[in-house]
Amino acid sequence: MTLSVRKVAAVAALSAALAGCGGGAGTPQDGGQARMGTHAASGPTAAPASPSASASASASPLPGAPGRAPTLAPGPNGLTPVFERTRQRADKTVALTFDADMTSDQGPRAASGERFDNPELISTLRRLQVPSTVFMTGRWAEEYPDQAKSIGTDPNFEIANHSYSHHAFKSPCYGLPTLDGDAARSDVEQAFAAFRKAGAVNTVPYFRFPGGCYDDRALRALAPAKVTAVQWDVVSGDAFAKDPDAVAEDVLAGVKPGSVVVMHCTRSAAPVTEEAVRKIVPELRKRGYRFVKVSELMGK
Ligand SMILES: [Zn+2]
Repeated sequence: MTLSVRKVAAVAALSAALAGCGGGAGTPQDGGQARMGTHAASGPTAAPASPSASASASASPLPGAPGRAPTLAPGPNGLTPVFERTRQRADKTVALTFDADMTSDQGPRAASGERFDNPELISTLRRLQVPSTVFMTGRWAEEYPDQAKSIGTDPNFEIANHSYSHHAFKSPCYGLPTLDGDAARSDVEQAFAAFRKAGAVNTVPYFRFPGGCYDDRALRALAPAKVTAVQWDVVSGDAFAKDPDAVAEDVLAGVKPGSVVVMHCTRSAAPVTEEAVRKIVPELRKRGYRFVKVSELMGK
C-alpha cells in the first residue's frame, strides 16, 4: 500500500515536471509566467540582438557553446535575458523546440529498458526538413552520446541547454529538487561539457529552465553563464499524451508568426510526438509557415 502510494506520487511528480516543460499545464509554471510579462522588456523589441552585439555578447560563453548564435542583451542589473517569442515579426515563421528530458536519477530506469530518446522523431524532422532546436539535458547526452553527436553535427538542428540534472532553478517547481547559486550555474556548465564530450558542435548558448520555473534569483545566478533563457508561447501538451490529433490541434490553434512551440524528444514520456509532428508540419506549411530554429527567430 505504502509502496503503491509512493509510486503514484512519484509518477505524479514526474508528470507535473514534464507538464511544466509545456506538457499539459496550459501555460508555463507560475514563476515563468509571472516573469514573462515583466521581462518582456528584455525581448528583441527592447534589446535587439544585432549581429555585432550578438558576437560580443556571446564571445566568451561556456565551454562547448559556440559564439556565433545571436543572443539577447542582458536584462536590468545584468540579469539573464529571457526570450519567449518574436512579437514584432510579420512573416510566418515558427520554431518547433524539443526538450530531451532525462533527470540525473533516471539512469537505472534507462538501464532497465525505458527509452528517454526518440530517434524516429529526429529522423522525421530530418526527412521533412524541419530545422529544429533540441533543448537537451546533459544527462540525456551522456545516456545517448551517439544521438547527441548525430543531432549536434547535423545543420538541421541546434542543441540548446536544458540543464544537466533537470532539477529546478526555483522553488517550488513541481516537486523537483532545487539547485541554487553556484550549483545552478555549474549544472548548466556540466550540461555544455556533456555535449562537448559527446562530440556535438551545433550547440547554442540558450537555456530552458526545467519546468519553465525561474525568478530573478535564478536569472542572477545564471548571469555569468551568458546564456539567453528561452521559454515558449505555445504548449503542445505532448507529455503523456495518447492522442496525436489532440496534440496537433493544440499546436495548430496556438501558433502565431514568431511562435516558439514546446514539445518533447523522449518516447518514454511523450509517445505520440512524432506522429503529431507529421500532422503539424504539412498543415502549417499549407498555412504559409516556415520552420526555423530559435537562433533564427532571435536573430531577426
Ligand atoms: Zn524538461
